[in-house]
Amino acid sequence: MDTVGKLFRSRDIYDLPKTDALFASAMRETCSFCYRNCDDYKRILDRKGFAPEMIDSIEDLSDLPFIPTLYFKHHHLKSVPDRKVFISATSSGTSGTMSNIVFDLRSLLTGAWMVLNVGRYHKLWSVVPVNYIIFGYQPSKTNRTAISKTAYGFTFFAPAISRTFALEMTPSGYKLNWDRVLKAMEKAAHSKFPMRTIGFPAYTYFLLKDMKAKGIRYKMPKGSMITMGGGWKQFYTEQPDKQEFYRLVKEVLDIDEDHVVEFFGAVEHPILYTDCRCHHFHIPVYSRILIRDPDTMKPIGNGRIGLVNLMSPMVRSTPVLSIMTDDLGIIHDEPCPCGASSPWLEIIGRVGVSDIVTCAAGGDEYLRNGS
Ligand SMILES: [Zn+2]
Repeated sequence: MDTVGKLFRSRDIYDLPKTDALFASAMRETCSFCYRNCDDYKRILDRKGFAPEMIDSIEDLSDLPFIPTLYFKHHHLKSVPDRKVFISATSSGTSGTMSNIVFDLRSLLTGAWMVLNVGRYHKLWSVVPVNYIIFGYQPSKTNRTAISKTAYGFTFFAPAISRTFALEMTPSGYKLNWDRVLKAMEKAAHSKFPMRTIGFPAYTYFLLKDMKAKGIRYKMPKGSMITMGGGWKQFYTEQPDKQEFYRLVKEVLDIDEDHVVEFFGAVEHPILYTDCRCHHFHIPVYSRILIRDPDTMKPIGNGRIGLVNLMSPMVRSTPVLSIMTDDLGIIHDEPCPCGASSPWLEIIGRVGVSDIVTCAAGGDEYLRNGS
């Protein structure tokens, strides 16, 4: 079996040391594939004087040239022919420019193993059918954002009795339909089957606050779950204290904190980070993360705040194996009471607009000169 396939079949999803060597081999495999099949990627590596064979161990990955996520908004890199593109996903950018990442069938199947294993560890799979309430868009031909696809994908962890979408397609575009959501909540509360919500944390938070203000309280069936993904993005300033958020969930829906699950991922790095019962995003074996100094771009180690460099060999159809985000984060090494042994990532925020410009310039320069 290829090393990428072997890595993604790993069931000990938080045992990093056990998979270090395998991870390095898998990165080399994806790196050489992209190098051979994507001229732009080859050019980037050549300019940096880096060859895929130089990845011999996990330590070598800090030398692998990363690509800033912003780069993908202006360059559509791909390493498979069009006929092999199975899904073309765009990031949900608010600025108008969107990244376009293509997935071939093989990359998606690799990801399916990860979803299977992560879902098993975090007990997301269930044979008990559930009522889904999705604070997101109904997938359609015109809406190709990854988030709508991902949200829809999450409705397969447990069989669906119903799927209610908060954003509905109207002749004038998407519209938020609170009434429909509240009706679905009411119905779910009286069902014998659990309810699961899926969506942006901000939408979930605003809905719960609205329900609380209206004096609405439900006792959701046992096993009901709040699942959230996509981060806070433009709502950073309104992000509540986590404990306040969990209290609100308990108060309005009678769902306990350990049934509130948050996911983290990005279209350029479609790895399923799932928070543990202590709400930490542990790094799974399918990825590695380096924190880099925003000025020098050198790795600064764990326990210090810097730019988040995400790595994974999952996707080979677009060279996203090492990407530089515009997120500021920190990796924690402290042992976590949940028992997962891998360090966890905390996103502190995004670099400001002016900083993004600097970063973008820095990123482009980085790709041009190779410092
Ligand atoms: Zn934990």
